[in-house]
Amino acid sequence: MNLQTNRIKWLLCHQLLLRGSPKNRIVTVSTFLANFKWAKKFRAKMIIWAEQNSQNMGGLTPGQIRSQTETDEFWPSLAVATRFKEAVRRNPAYAQRRLPAFTPQELNRELVHVRCHFCQELHDKLQLCTGCEKAKYCSRDCQQKHWVSKHRNECKAAAKGRS
Ligand SMILES: [Zn+2]
Ligand SMILES: [Zn+2]
Repeated sequence: MNLQTNRIKWLLCHQLLLRGSPKNRIVTVSTFLANFKWAKKFRAKMIIWAEQNSQNMGGLTPGQIRSQTETDEFWPSLAVATRFKEAVRRNPAYAQRRLPAFTPQELNRELVHVRCHFCQELHDKLQLCTGCEKAKYCSRDCQQKHWVSKHRNECKAAAKGRS
């Protein structure tokens, strides 16, 4: 179990997104999600190993594992998977759609799904605003600051747009 193997798993997810479903073979949204799940599990396992004994991971702490696995391939895959999973929850048939191909610019725009709405940092675990179920935050602190400065007014409008 090492960082290099982890990197390869995320590279595969990224390649799937850049290529999309080829003409001669059907690659679905669910194929991508299965690859994503596999990469995510591997990363989580490395973090657990480092928590139990950092020697297992060559002396790296869980924090170091986290930051070193947050690569250029990791973030777009996480962002698209987050959006796909939401789409599949609303419509299970979405999983059987052909995987679209993304340009690097399009992948960049997908990062909004893993960005804190207040501090704009990329985060692997964001909490959803229960009011609008749209705004996402990395911490309670960011959520409160955004609520006071701006979101108080936009939250209701966003919730209305949803229903
Ligand atoms: Zn934040
Ligand atoms: Zn809200």
